[in-house]
Amino acid sequence: MINLINISKSYGENHAVRSFDLTIETAETTVLIGPSGCGKSTILRTIIGLISPDTGKVNIEGEALSTANLVSLRQKMGYVIQEGGLFPNLSAEGNVFLMARYLGWDKDRIEERIDELCELTKFPKDALNRYPIQISGGQRQRLSLMRALMLDPNILLLDEPLGALDPLIRSELQQDLKEIFSTLGKTVVMVTHDMGEAAFFGDKIVLIKDGQIIQEGNISDLIKTPSNPFVTTFINAQRNHLEIIGDI
Ligand code: ADP
Ligand code: MG
Repeated sequence: MINLINISKSYGENHAVRSFDLTIETAETTVLIGPSGCGKSTILRTIIGLISPDTGKVNIEGEALSTANLVSLRQKMGYVIQEGGLFPNLSAEGNVFLMARYLGWDKDRIEERIDELCELTKFPKDALNRYPIQISGGQRQRLSLMRALMLDPNILLLDEPLGALDPLIRSELQQDLKEIFSTLGKTVVMVTHDMGEAAFFGDKIVLIKDGQIIQEGNISDLIKTPSNPFVTTFINAQRNHLEIIGDI
């Protein structure tokens, strides 16, 4: 479980996140959704300790995140940053095993893990020695996911992992990702701005506006008992995206 307790973060006059309280359940997928600039990425960066909030604290599996335990807690979390964040000068494989090698894993263990991950994410093994620029957009996202999963973290943080893909590839990857999440039983926090995607993945959907939670619940809660007119406006603006989950 992850607990965000009274998190606030400002940049000058700009309140990126305000008095944010959220419980993220173990082995569930929690989706953060809201308009661009509402604070979604800031929340993910706070969870993984890349940003220290102005107020509040983050508990990861009962342990408060601090400078003393940052490195060890980070290893419990896999993170796919917006736009993938692959190193262009490293091969596909080099991107994936970077941290494992740093931690002293031997060659056999690394190879075995990469084999497993290729199978899980359907990444073609014959593309492992190519550079990120030499593989397709969908494959790059599969690779970013492999990298995030390499150390077998309990928690997976994904910042708009499918944002830049064309619709067909995106829907294929959505199916595969959902299957991977249910197979692995990880605690997943995913950011998206697409309500269809949020409904497809989210055990819990957290709708954010101007750095604050407007409503949290499942898609049916948001549709049937909106806490605020913004919820309905936001959902209606994306009605066509909800076809993905059929009638509610
Ligand atoms: P989202 O991911 O929902 O699009 P972000 O969390 O990236 O939003 O940003 C929230 C707000 O904080 C935005 O107004 C953004 O411009 C601002 N912001 C984020 N990071 C910084 C930064 N490093 N410096 C200044 N402003 C920032
Ligand atoms: Mg963002």
